[in-house]
Amino acid sequence: MYYIGIDVGGTNLKAGLVREDGQILAVERTPLAFENPEQFARTLAQLGQSVLQQAGVPVSDVVSAGIGIPGAVAGGDILYTCNIPLRDVPLSRLFRQHLDVPVLLENDANCAAVGEWLCGAGRGTQQFIVVTLGTGVGGGLILNGKLYSGSGMVGEVGHMVIQHGGAPCNCGRRGCWEAYASATGLIRMTREAMEAHPESLLHTVAAQSGCVEGRTAFDAAVQGDETALGLCRDYVSYLAAGVTNLINILQPEAVAIGGGVAAAPDGLLLTPLREIVERECYPRHTGQVPRIVRAELGNDAGIIGAALLKRAI
Ligand SMILES: [Zn+2]
Repeated sequence: MYYIGIDVGGTNLKAGLVREDGQILAVERTPLAFENPEQFARTLAQLGQSVLQQAGVPVSDVVSAGIGIPGAVAGGDILYTCNIPLRDVPLSRLFRQHLDVPVLLENDANCAAVGEWLCGAGRGTQQFIVVTLGTGVGGGLILNGKLYSGSGMVGEVGHMVIQHGGAPCNCGRRGCWEAYASATGLIRMTREAMEAHPESLLHTVAAQSGCVEGRTAFDAAVQGDETALGLCRDYVSYLAAGVTNLINILQPEAVAIGGGVAAAPDGLLLTPLREIVERECYPRHTGQVPRIVRAELGNDAGIIGAALLKRAI
């Protein structure tokens, strides 16, 4: 049997035909050109039909289609999205007018967590957390062998405050984890470090790539720059604060770190992160410190997780 997984991104729509074991057999993508909810649903259904055609699979062999939405969903409806004007849209019903298979909707970060849980870094666990370090900090929670999906706005781990009164966050609060541990937060801290240290190699590295990026700090640290090394240590300490909080509340077996920043060298990111968590997390008292690992599926996690949603609910 086969599953369709659809990933609704801010700029692209991507569909995949996925096997039970997570193998992607066919992929189709198209730029997002939003006109209205009906046309949007039709485009998604057409993407689904294209992957079926590409793989030569009849629609009768499809168990379900899962759709990852950048926003809040409830049942078969989209309640709200961040970047696309979709509010209170019965997407499942509209989709089935064009491709009649059972449809499941879920938040995109939750889909990525399901993908990593079933086919990536979380295989074999019952309690698992994925933290994605990108423009923001996303999170997905697998609890007791199921996706914890709540009422559509769950897993917003990036908006826990780790620095009371700290840097302003897009959500309106100050000191959110996201303001420090996201790539955006790291770029802000890199700029501040550059201003304070005109002699730092950070300037050269940023000039070479044309701008300050999430990787600027790590690239300069690899070359031994003291300011960059200090910056990376600070960044990891903020990252560790949030990871430790999550561990103390949920005691997962593993935490997977994904997103662009997770590509940083182990010695600068995962190793010091593990050291802080091992030293500080509460489950250390019973010798049950969770594994901290890198997410494995990259951008495919969204499609695979959306496709296999049925197995996570
Ligand atoms: Zn916030």
